[in-house]
Amino acid sequence: MHIVVCIKQVPDSTDMRIDPKTNNLIREGVPSVTNPPDLHATEEALKIKEKYGGIISVVTMGPLQAESSLREILAMGADYAYHVSDRALAGSDTLATSYTLWMAIKKICEIHGPFTFIFFGRQAIDGETGQTGPGVAARFGIPIITYTYSIDEINLEKGYVIATRKVYDGKEVVKATIPTAFSIIEEANKPRIPSIKDIIRAYKTKITRWNKDDLKLDPDKIGLRGSPTFVKKVFPPPPRKKGQIFDGRDKEREAVKWLVDNLLKINAFGEKVAEKYEEVKPLPIALDKTKQFGEVWFYVEHRYGKADPVSWELLGEARRLSRLLNVKCAAVIIGYKVEHLIEESASYGADKIYYVDDKIYEDYRTEPYSYVLTELCLKYKPEILLMPGTQNGRDLAGYAATLIPTGLVADVTQLDIDPATGILLATRPDFGGNEMSTIVCPKHKPQMATIRPKVFKIPPKIQNNNYEVIKEEIKVPEEKIHTELLKFIPREKIRLEEANIIVAVGKGFGSPKNLYLAQEFAKVINAEIGATRAVVYSGWLPKEVQIGQTGLTVRPRIYFAIGISGAIQHVVGMQNSDVIVAINIDPQAPIFNVADFGIIGDLFKILPLLTEELKIRNK
Ligand SMILES: Cc1cc2nc3c(=O)[nH]c(=O)nc-3n(C[C@H](O)[C@H](O)[C@H](O)COP(=O)(O)OP(=O)(O)OC[C@H]3O[C@@H](n4cnc5c(N)ncnc54)[C@H](O)[C@@H]3O)c2cc1C
Repeated sequence: MHIVVCIKQVPDSTDMRIDPKTNNLIREGVPSVTNPPDLHATEEALKIKEKYGGIISVVTMGPLQAESSLREILAMGADYAYHVSDRALAGSDTLATSYTLWMAIKKICEIHGPFTFIFFGRQAIDGETGQTGPGVAARFGIPIITYTYSIDEINLEKGYVIATRKVYDGKEVVKATIPTAFSIIEEANKPRIPSIKDIIRAYKTKITRWNKDDLKLDPDKIGLRGSPTFVKKVFPPPPRKKGQIFDGRDKEREAVKWLVDNLLKINAFGEKVAEKYEEVKPLPIALDKTKQFGEVWFYVEHRYGKADPVSWELLGEARRLSRLLNVKCAAVIIGYKVEHLIEESASYGADKIYYVDDKIYEDYRTEPYSYVLTELCLKYKPEILLMPGTQNGRDLAGYAATLIPTGLVADVTQLDIDPATGILLATRPDFGGNEMSTIVCPKHKPQMATIRPKVFKIPPKIQNNNYEVIKEEIKVPEEKIHTELLKFIPREKIRLEEANIIVAVGKGFGSPKNLYLAQEFAKVINAEIGATRAVVYSGWLPKEVQIGQTGLTVRPRIYFAIGISGAIQHVVGMQNSDVIVAINIDPQAPIFNVADFGIIGDLFKILPLLTEELKIRNK
């Protein structure tokens, strides 16, 4: 068996600092590390090698220093290492990277024989796209099981594998034919730590280095030239307006009363305020009749016909962008017997609906869905296509963008149109949220972006009798389908993203045994519990409740941040909450910069009083 593991060396964003004068990221001296999810991918590959035998080749594309990451993987137990390095590869986006890796893997297979599996980490922590894996799989025409949590069965004789993947709304048990690609999530395993002997052995192992000529790379498909997307602008994240802070040290009762009075005054425990949605006027460039723009599309994500709310968040943005460009806003619905979604899309304001219905599309599967999406894009040529930043949305977007081919910007939190060119400006947090980057894709269509759930508003429903439906019959050839959904296990609890009130806990609780204070408080105000990554990494609470850059984005009516420092990576996941309350003992804690109401004080004194006060006021 030949297993290929793809890894990346990334800047260690835990070590990034902001220049207090310019507010820009300090890049100098930032150490590089092996992308942490790639260590989990390697561990999963090693487990298979131990059970079934075979060899592991590890490959990376990157500058010379990336060699140290290859040695780390060799030390863990990989057998051969390949380093693709060439100045011409600088500036590669995910489309160019997946092309280069694809060419490299083909050459590796000429040496060691065809691969059985290719492993990727869930995503790289610098770009956070998760697109390279689907891109490489699409080029090979093989299935990929993204966000894999466990590989449950491998049947080499019959040529299939069964794995469980974690998605937004539950878990999917997927059967796929071999050869198979996987992207592995951190919860799948604990990467092994190599011994000194292994490290010494790894440093003696020869690493094969290839440049663009060795791989016969097409110069039009690599580096900046081969990348449809590029960064147009970089800027620091904008600050949120400052709220009111009460110094509650030694005045705990007074502080709690002040807070509760203020919260009740603004009806903070009531239902989420109806979102205001403003229509926009076309840009002058769009009114210039010589300028022609295609439609703005959004993808309707659903599970057996129940639309995910993120679809309507996308609709709001797609509609706004379409109005700026003076074109139609259209929904793309793929499924089986989901006709009601046509009307639902129209009721939120879609002008047009592309609808593909067939039994093949009953379950979400990467290949047939990508095939349909690609066919639709090639036939109707939309200007922009917005995809949900859910696991399945990213999986589909990454695969389809490679097939089309076009550029894809991941995890976007702001969208706009360049008034001079009509090009989409897609802005996203980078480097763990320390920096915002505006990315463009000026020459390829559609301009694709995956959008973070819960960042944009759902527009109000409207009376819409004037919409057009395009029903397309698209049959996917059998040989293009390599996966089967064996089982879907829905999440038992409500999704944290849907909660109206969230009590989020940080390391300030000191120990998991103190979390009962937050749980009692949450019970009184009917809230769900969320947490910081530090809490999750300490094993106090499961990953499902992690809020922030590498966790969930939430947008509740009210968010209590208790014992949370307010690191930017946490803040990007909760800053759009209607009301933010912070309780922290440190007056300098950055969480106070985003809080509408803050109490400086000891949570162990404040929280029981707050619970008691709200219990009384509840009566
Ligand atoms: C690439 C990357 C991605 C990341 N993704 C995420 C993410 O998705 N989500 C996330 O949350 N983090 C993320 N982080 C980690 C983030 O940088 C912070 O380390 C983390 O959010 C800190 O968690 P914390 O606030 O619980 O802990 P700490 O930073 O340790 O803060 C604890 C706070 O509790 C306060 N405190 C202590 N005792 C008390 C008391 N008795 N009463 C009141 N207050 C008290 C302290 O003053 C302090 O402010 C990421 C980091 C990186 C590099």
